Amino acid sequence: MNHILIKDGRVYDHDGDTDQPALADILVRDGRIAEVGPGIAARLAAAGEQPAETLDAAGMLVLPGFVNAHYHSHDVLMKGAWETLPLEIWLMKALPPSYPKRSREEIKVRALLGAWECLRGGITTIQDMVTLAPWDPDHLDALLEAYDEIGIRAVVALQFADIPGIASIPFWEEVVPKKYHGVLSGGIEPPKENVDLFTVVEQQYRRHKARHPRITWGLGPSGPERCSRGFLERLAALSKAEDLPLYTHLYEGKYMALHARQAYGAQGGSLVNWLGEVGLLNPLMNLAHSVWLLPQEIERLAETGTNVVVNPVGNLKTRSGVPPMRQLLESGVNTALGCDNCSCSDVQNMFQAMKLFSALTAVSDPEPGPPTAPEALRAATLAGAKGARLEGKLGALKPGYAADFSLLDLADPSFVPLNSVARQVVYCESGRAVRTVVVDGQVVLRDGRLTQVDQDDLRGAVERVMVGLRKDMAQVGGKVDEIYGYLMEAYRRVWASDVGINRYVGNGRL
Ligand SMILES: [Zn+2]
Repeated sequence: MNHILIKDGRVYDHDGDTDQPALADILVRDGRIAEVGPGIAARLAAAGEQPAETLDAAGMLVLPGFVNAHYHSHDVLMKGAWETLPLEIWLMKALPPSYPKRSREEIKVRALLGAWECLRGGITTIQDMVTLAPWDPDHLDALLEAYDEIGIRAVVALQFADIPGIASIPFWEEVVPKKYHGVLSGGIEPPKENVDLFTVVEQQYRRHKARHPRITWGLGPSGPERCSRGFLERLAALSKAEDLPLYTHLYEGKYMALHARQAYGAQGGSLVNWLGEVGLLNPLMNLAHSVWLLPQEIERLAETGTNVVVNPVGNLKTRSGVPPMRQLLESGVNTALGCDNCSCSDVQNMFQAMKLFSALTAVSDPEPGPPTAPEALRAATLAGAKGARLEGKLGALKPGYAADFSLLDLADPSFVPLNSVARQVVYCESGRAVRTVVVDGQVVLRDGRLTQVDQDDLRGAVERVMVGLRKDMAQVGGKVDEIYGYLMEAYRRVWASDVGINRYVGNGRL
C-alpha cells in the first residue's frame, strides 16, 4: 500500500489561521490525504504501524500544490528570448504556426523541462493548452509520456482553431503589403492537413481519457473569434456530455476587443455574448486573460458561473494591459491564476503571479483592498481546481483531497521572522524555499531535485534539440523583423481606437 506520513509540519489551511498555521501530521494512503491533525505519527507508532515512507516536516511549511491554470508547453525552450513585445508580434516569433514541424524528441524534452520548472516551484498541476502543429498524434503521445514519467498532474487540452489569424487581427490586411501576407500568422492557424478538427479532438479525448488518474482532459478552442460557430457548438455539446472543462483565450490584447466591436455587431460587439450564444458561458468554461472585459461582461460571467484565469506576468511582457482582478473577485467570478507561455511570462512561478495578483490593482485603484494574500493563495490553488472540474479533489490539505503538496523550508530568509505565512508566501517567497514536492502521493522532488527524471540528462537533451531550434528561431525572427514596421503601424492604430474601456494606466509615462 502506498502509505506516506508527513510529520510535524505547519499545515496550511485556507479556512484556518493563515498567519500561523498549526503543527500537524498528514497521513496519505493511495495518493489521497486520509487524515490531517496532531498526533497521527504517535498513534501509528503506538500501534506498530510503519508507513512506507515518513517525511520529516519539522521546521517546514506544508502548502497545497499550486494549480497553474493557464500554461502552454509548446514554447518552453524560448524563455528569455525576447524583450517585451506587443502580443501580436510576439506570437509570430514564438508560436508553432511560424515554425516547421518539430521532432518527437523536442516535444518530449520541452514538456519535461516545463514540468520540471513547475515542480521546482511547487506547481503540482498544470493546465497545458498545447498546440501541436502540424498535427501528429505521435506528438501527443510524446507529451503524455513526459507527464507520466516526471509525475506531474496535468489537465491536457489540445489547442485548435479553424479561422486564420489574419482574419481576426485588425488592420493587418490593409497595413501589411500583400506580398508579406504569407508571413502573417495568429497564435494558431487552421491545420493545412485535411482534417475535421472536432473529430480529432473527440478521438484523442476518447483514446486517452482513462490513461492515468493524474492526467485529465480539457477542450481548447484557441479563441472565440478564431473558431467557427459549428466548431464551438460541437465542443460545447461534448463538454456538457462528458463534463469536460474548456479553456480559451479571451480579450488578451486590446486588438481582440477592437475586433469584437467590429466583427460581432450582432452580439453587441461582445465576445462574451458570442460565447453565450454558442453555449459556452457556464462553469465548465475557463477564460484565460480577460484583460479587456467591460463591467457588464464581468457581471455576465459572474451570473453564469464562468471561470477566469488571469496571467498578470505575461500580460505585462506582451504590453497587453492589466486584467481587472479586483473587479472579478468583487463580482464573485471564480478567478484562477496561470503563468502562461514560457516565452512571454519567461517563468513558471506562481509566487510571481500571486504577488502581482495582489499588488497590481494598485496601478488604478488608490483604495487598499482585495486581492489579499490568502485570496491569492486560493486563486493559485482552489480556483484553478474548480475550473478544471476537480473541486473538492485538489487545492487544499484535507481528507479526501489528492496528496499534492510542497514542503517549504521556514528557515529560508523569506520566512524569518515568521509574521504571517500567507503574506510571506505571497509577498516574500520566490520559490527558493521549496524543498520537497509530492504529487498523487509520490515524492517527485526531493531536496530540490527531481526523483523520477535525471535532471542532468534532461539538460543534455535540451542542448541537443536547441541546435535546430535556434536556427529556426533566427529564421522566423528575421522574417518577422522584415515586416516589423508594418506590424507596429497596425498595433498603434489599435491603440488609437476606442473600445469603451482602458486597461492601460496613466496619461503620462511611468
Ligand atoms: Zn495562452
